[in-house]
Amino acid sequence: MNLRRTKIIATLGPATDAPETLAALLRVVDCVRLNFSHGVVEDHAKRVKMVRAEAELIGKDVAVFADLQGPKIRVGTFLDGEVVLEPGAPFSLDLDCDPHGGDVHRVWFDYEGLLNDVADRDEIYFLLDDGRIKLRVVSVQDRGFSCEVIAGGKLSNRKGISVLGGGICAPMLTDKDLDDLSSACAMGVDMIALSFPASSDDILRARELIDAHDPSIGIISKIERKEAIDNLDDIVDHSDVIMVARGDLALEVGEEEVPVLQKHIIKLCRVQETPVIVATQMMESMVFASTPTRAEVSDVANAVLDGADCVMLSAETATGQYPVQVAEKVSSICQRIEAHSLTRKSDYQDRLIHKQMDGSIAYAAMYLANRMSVSAIIAVTEYGQTPRIMSRVRTGIPIYALSRRHRSRTKMAFLRDVYSFSLDLSQVDSSRQLVTRIVAYFKDKGVLKDSDAFLLTHGDDLTGNRATSTLKVCRVADVLSYGSDGAPSAYYNELTVESSDG
Ligand code: PGA
Ligand code: MN
Repeated sequence: MNLRRTKIIATLGPATDAPETLAALLRVVDCVRLNFSHGVVEDHAKRVKMVRAEAELIGKDVAVFADLQGPKIRVGTFLDGEVVLEPGAPFSLDLDCDPHGGDVHRVWFDYEGLLNDVADRDEIYFLLDDGRIKLRVVSVQDRGFSCEVIAGGKLSNRKGISVLGGGICAPMLTDKDLDDLSSACAMGVDMIALSFPASSDDILRARELIDAHDPSIGIISKIERKEAIDNLDDIVDHSDVIMVARGDLALEVGEEEVPVLQKHIIKLCRVQETPVIVATQMMESMVFASTPTRAEVSDVANAVLDGADCVMLSAETATGQYPVQVAEKVSSICQRIEAHSLTRKSDYQDRLIHKQMDGSIAYAAMYLANRMSVSAIIAVTEYGQTPRIMSRVRTGIPIYALSRRHRSRTKMAFLRDVYSFSLDLSQVDSSRQLVTRIVAYFKDKGVLKDSDAFLLTHGDDLTGNRATSTLKVCRVADVLSYGSDGAPSAYYNELTVESSDG
């Protein structure tokens, strides 16, 4: 098997709706994203159904998540659909303008609180349409802002407004988000992505709302505002998955800050045992072009080198002209980089003191994996906790996770190096039986050969329902000889030990 270790997320949209396209896409990617900033609920519901049916058909635990729009501030619409703003020209954001009557002099905006949020600043810059337009505030009135156009260009209906430096106080969940959250839970998504959370309070509030539907649905926190950077530790602590949402983040903190923040966030997520996604514009040019730019190839490569669990595609798959090709391209870049020794070993957290049983076993397994010749790590798990911790450590060796829970398996779709399977272990009642079943299963899949050794972790209850407490070194040949009269092979205790690089 040629496994890709970094996971790929594709945003679904009109470009992926054709059944053949979706089928081809799901053969490549591990997770799909429904972007609730676009489209109607019925579209998303239809897509979830199609994904679940196709995933079942190809026998893959594809994760599905809903990405809520959040409190994105937007301009109203223009009489002519768009205007061209010239650098140096005056332009106003004005609450008294007709929401549909914008022109080259002024436009309405949809958040009254903006005036208050930036009231006490000496200098205010607004970034519109992902930063393509930059406005400097010349004077603040009761009902709006008079600005000078710094960076001009075309501005069309409903484009987003960001404030350089952050500081927006709008509540994280809008009325639309509350409706969308309920709809998404009803569709049976595996996770919900929160846009613009500022602190763990935002996440706890969402957690409560989601729990009312289904507590097993996870939360992805998008790091895309300045306040989230200030409260990063706490946010990571309360989230199932973190997303480095570089689009909005760049607008709030300045784009030069993002590359280092990306590395910082990924590192923190590894320390806090939380999977992390790198998102936005990774292959942007492939919305229209059949090949990526050199810079884009490097961007994906660097995310892998930084240690991201997942890389995400947005418009590239949702509305792009090459939705399947772009996913295949990302896949091949990841695999090429993963083959490099830089990504394969680490003495990460060698000095860690362990407080939890499963965590201690997980790290012990990774310690061995990096220092002896094993071809697989196999974890019997209920909720995926042990594989999640294992996947923080680089080994270059795949982690096969066996869980009977579909929701646990789809959650593991976000974990670098982890591949989930749904082997039924309910009849197993001894540790020998467990190993025998596992060896038969993975030999059949072509994952294990007679000459292989592997590491196995499981709990006291062999089916996975008990914290992981056991780490075992197993040799396939020995397991196959269980039950036969013959003595164990002559080199029973001998395993080839590779020299470690550090
Ligand atoms: P969005 O989030 O695409 O929903 O805006 C990602 C980002 O801001 O980078
Ligand atoms: Mn965003």
